Amino acid sequence: MSYSKIKGSCVCEKIRYELTGQPITNIICHCDTCRKITGSVFMANSMYTKENFKITAGEDILKVYDDKPPGSKNTIHRHFCSICSSPIYTTSTGTPEYESVLTVTSGTMDLGNDSWKPLMEMFCMRRRGFVSPFEGTDKHEKTPY
Ligand SMILES: [Zn+2]
Ligand SMILES: [Zn+2]
Repeated sequence: MSYSKIKGSCVCEKIRYELTGQPITNIICHCDTCRKITGSVFMANSMYTKENFKITAGEDILKVYDDKPPGSKNTIHRHFCSICSSPIYTTSTGTPEYESVLTVTSGTMDLGNDSWKPLMEMFCMRRRGFVSPFEGTDKHEKTPY
């Protein structure tokens, strides 16, 4: 598995980005918000430090949805393409140690079939019944963050 440089884009390809270096972790999240934001059954993201992520095209058409989960001190900033609506990356404010990182959607990365695998699963308590647990992941009923 090589992570030296990964390129990615939204589906309309107006937004492009590059990732360098190693991800901190690769996360599958089964929570309700991740299902709704993707329209699918879970979300697959890589966490990186912010300096390893660079938007190379289309920064002006990124839109942000500020998601304030009830009872959380954190605000989740969900960045997506305002033309094609692909979710690209997420940052958060409210907890200083997480303000230096971001999560990037693995589905927007231009990768070969075997270039990405999950290392962690979150909100397993909400995993859809037909989805099998992934082999080799750290599993959390809720979130370790
Ligand atoms: Zn787009
Ligand atoms: Zn989630």
